Amino acid sequence: MKVLLVYAHPEPQSLNGALRDFAVAHLQAAGHEVQVSDLYAMDWKATLDVADAPHLASGERFDAVLDSQRAYASGGQPADIAAEQAKLLWADVLILQFPLWWFSLPAILKGWVERVYACGFAYGVGEHSDSHWGDRYGEGTLAGKRAMLVVTCGGWESHYSARGINGGLDDILFPIQHGILFYPGFSVLPPFPVYRTSKVDAVAFERLCQAYGARLDGLATDTPLAFRRQNGGDYEIPALTLKPELAPGRTGLGVHLREE
Ligand code: FAD
Repeated sequence: MKVLLVYAHPEPQSLNGALRDFAVAHLQAAGHEVQVSDLYAMDWKATLDVADAPHLASGERFDAVLDSQRAYASGGQPADIAAEQAKLLWADVLILQFPLWWFSLPAILKGWVERVYACGFAYGVGEHSDSHWGDRYGEGTLAGKRAMLVVTCGGWESHYSARGINGGLDDILFPIQHGILFYPGFSVLPPFPVYRTSKVDAVAFERLCQAYGARLDGLATDTPLAFRRQNGGDYEIPALTLKPELAPGRTGLGVHLREE
């Protein structure tokens, strides 16, 4: 199996750094091929801007969608973007590993998504008409591949439980798991969260590695989250609202998961 680990932490001697090293060693020992995109070490450019549209003449208006599409289609993208897209196409599994910062991705990782997920590559794929709003949410360029989040949180597990003060972790991760991973086609495995990071010591780290190792061993076989496919018959066309007979009376993010 080919695994791409996109890793966002500024300090190699951090808990995240130790978990990254563990994952690489564990996967390689099991015979898998691993590539790591260490975004801080790469000095990854985090902002999508006019520099990503080298085809534009000086002073020409930059359109984030159209110029992304044009650069992608013409082969004129910056080399760092094209290299990350090639890694995504190479990989069977994508792992995004990051500390939860302000309930979301560190900015450098968000910027990786914004730049690498070009128009025509990760969105704007397939027929767009009143009867088919693109190949997305379960279809698209990255369909057939798997993805998993590895996320460390300062807060306690209870803070992220269904009635916890921070909101349930499933809800907090929804924009990433559904919006960033499922959208371009990935099957999304349940996340591997680490809570209450300031209390992690050598004993807890050993336990974490055992649990993480088991999840890495299940990358090819674990059951993905049951997100509903856009073009699978669950949504009204063209409104793309969930059909009323599905999850009747319920609203909220959870309705986009099939009841199994
Ligand atoms: P570190 O600080 O490097 O380490 C944590 C602990 O692990 C330390 O005690 C360290 O000694 C120990 N450790 C490290 N390596 C090892 C090893 N090899 N063996 C044994 N022990 C080890 N938290 C939330 O829950 N929600 C938020 O929204 C949120 N927002 C944040 C925003 C910002 C800007 C910042 C800076 C923090 C935020 N946090 C939040 C907290 C953040 O999620 C945690 O600080 C982070 O996940 C900890 O991961 P780390 O790799 O930086 O840990």
